[in-house]
Amino acid sequence: MQQAKSRQLFEQAQRVIPGGVNSPVRSFRAVAGTPPFIARGQGAHVWDVDGNEYIDYLGSWGPLALGHAHPAVVAAVQRAAADGTSFGAPVAQEVELAELICAALPSVDLVRLVNSGTEACMTALRLARAYTERSKIVKFAGNYHGHADGLLVQAGSGALTHGVPTSAGVPESYAAETLIAAYNDLASVESLFDAWPDGIAAVIVEPVAGNMGVVPPADGFLEGLRRITEANGALLIFDEVITGFRVAYGGAQTLFGITPDITTMGKIIGGGLPVGAYGGRREIMQMVAPLGPMYQAGTLSGNPLAVAAGVATLTELQRPGVSEQLEATAARLTDGIAAAFARAEVPSTINRVGSMFTGFFNAGPVDTLAVVEQSDTAAYGRYFHALLERGVYIAPSQFEAGFVSIAHTDADIDRTITAVGDALAAMS
Ligand SMILES: *Cc1c(COP(=O)(O)O)cnc(C)c1O
Repeated sequence: MQQAKSRQLFEQAQRVIPGGVNSPVRSFRAVAGTPPFIARGQGAHVWDVDGNEYIDYLGSWGPLALGHAHPAVVAAVQRAAADGTSFGAPVAQEVELAELICAALPSVDLVRLVNSGTEACMTALRLARAYTERSKIVKFAGNYHGHADGLLVQAGSGALTHGVPTSAGVPESYAAETLIAAYNDLASVESLFDAWPDGIAAVIVEPVAGNMGVVPPADGFLEGLRRITEANGALLIFDEVITGFRVAYGGAQTLFGITPDITTMGKIIGGGLPVGAYGGRREIMQMVAPLGPMYQAGTLSGNPLAVAAGVATLTELQRPGVSEQLEATAARLTDGIAAAFARAEVPSTINRVGSMFTGFFNAGPVDTLAVVEQSDTAAYGRYFHALLERGVYIAPSQFEAGFVSIAHTDADIDRTITAVGDALAAMS
C-alpha cells in the first residue's frame, strides 16, 4: 500500500490544523497509523492521493446512502451552483426538502433546516426547555448528539449523579443540567424522573444507537421512553441524524412505530452537503422564531446547494425497491462477515439495523454500553489495518457504525467478505 503522499499531506496538515484533521476521529488515533487523504469517490469506492482504491463503508459517516458522486446529486448541485450559492432569502428548493421530510416522518408537522446535526440537537434541547419551562435533560451514556456544551457529558459515578463534562471547557454548571441514564435500561430513566419530578424537559435518545457502535433498542425500550416521558410531562426527542432515511425511509420512528415529540435530522437529508434539521408537533414548533419566543437563526440555513443535494438524495431513496435493495445488500454483507468470523473462530457480534452495522470483537450479545466497552479494541485496530491493506475501508474505531449504500454491488460485498476472511487469517 503506497502512502507517501498521504504521509506528506498529514505532516503538512498537522502544521496548520489541530491534529491534522477537522474532526477528531479522522486522525486514526484509535487505530494508529496515517489516514489516507481521499482524492475522489465514485459509487461505493474511494481512491486516495497515492492511488489506492477502497470499498468504502464509512460513507462519510452516514450521509452517503446513494454512494459517492451519484449522478442525480452531482447534477442537482451543479444546477444550483450555477444559479448562485446563497441568498439569505427564501428559495423554492428548501420548501421542497421540508415537504419531503414532513411527508416521510409522521411526527413532524413543521421542520426548520439548519447546517449540522450538532446544531439540530442543540436547538431541539432549547426548544424542549422553552416548551416545558423546565431545565434538565436526560441523555444516555454512549449516545452522541453532536458537540453542544450540555451534550458533551457522561455518567457520573452513581446512577443518580449529575453528568460530568467529557470535554474540557464545558462548565460543571452546564453539565449539571444533563442527567445520564443507561441505554436499554428503563429503570435508570425512571429513577431520574423520581429524583427530579417536574424538572426534566426532555429525554434525547438515538433510537438505534450508532455512536457506541450499532446497538439496537431492546424490546420495549423506546415504548417505555414514550410512556415515561408522557406520564411526566416531558418531551421525547428522537435523534435521527443517522437513522433518519436509513433504518427505514421514515426513520426509526416508522420502523418501531413510536411517535416522538421532536426529531433531529442530518447526514442523509443533506446528501453529503452540510444540513441538519429539527421538527415536530405543530404546537411545539410554533415556539420557534418568528412564530414564537425561542430564537434560532442561520446565515446559510436552507442553503440552495445543500437542499438540492438533499432533495435529489431523498427522491432517489423513495424509488420503488430501493429500501429493499439496501436492506438486502446490508444483510448479505453482515451474514458474510458473521460467517467469516465464525470460520476464523474469533468471538464476535455483528449488530445491524437496516444499512447500519458494527462488527464487535466481543462474544456478546452487545446490548448495553457496559458490554460494548468490553470489546477487544486492540484486535479491532489490527483488523482495521488488515482490511485497509486489502482495499476495504471501515470506521477507524470499534465504537462506530459502518454504512452500506445503494451503490454497493454484490461483487463489492463478495470482495469484502473475502477480505474479511483473509484479514482475520492474517491476524491470527
Ligand atoms: C453525527 C451525529 C450528530 C452530529 O451531527 P454533525 O452534523 O456531525 O454535527 C448528532 N447525532 C447523531 C446521532 C449523529 O450520529
